[in-house]
Amino acid sequence: MEKTLVILKPSAIARELIGKVITRFEEKGLLIVGIKMMKLSEELLREHYSHLVSKPFFPLILDSMTALPVIVMCVKGKDAVEVVRQMTGTTNSRKAAPGTIRGDFGMSGQENIVHASDSVESAEIELKRFFRDDEIFDYTPALIKFMYASDEV
Ligand code: ADP
Repeated sequence: MEKTLVILKPSAIARELIGKVITRFEEKGLLIVGIKMMKLSEELLREHYSHLVSKPFFPLILDSMTALPVIVMCVKGKDAVEVVRQMTGTTNSRKAAPGTIRGDFGMSGQENIVHASDSVESAEIELKRFFRDDEIFDYTPALIKFMYASDEV
């Protein structure tokens, strides 16, 4: 089973969307196997968004992502990276498809509610960036046989 990183950004915290966003992942059948609230430092954000550091809007990302604490989650499931990215929607919330988290809850390119790892490789790196090994819990839910066929797990 894959694991991926989801961050509920300050826009989700400020707008009191934490429960609604987490519920989407739970109702889909994804497992929350790690979760914590934390304040992100500039140093960590420069590493996490290293592909955007040279962009003119990078100071806005720093302001936005340090405005409030965030909630970081490790989400587990079959093909979790791709499934979560699809649920997240495209970067600009105004263009994100209805039914996606960004499409349903946002109006902004920057204040777009969630971060989700964009590949299996990034997910591995990003999970290590935000979680210690002992903060991730690899449990199997009792209903697993009703969530997946035996040849899927
Ligand atoms: P994604 O979060 O969809 O993987 P990126 O990695 O390209 O997208 O960008 C990271 C974050 O930086 C976005 O989620 C958004 O908050 C912000 N961002 C990206 N592009 C812009 C932009 N053109 N203007 C303002 N903020 C942006």
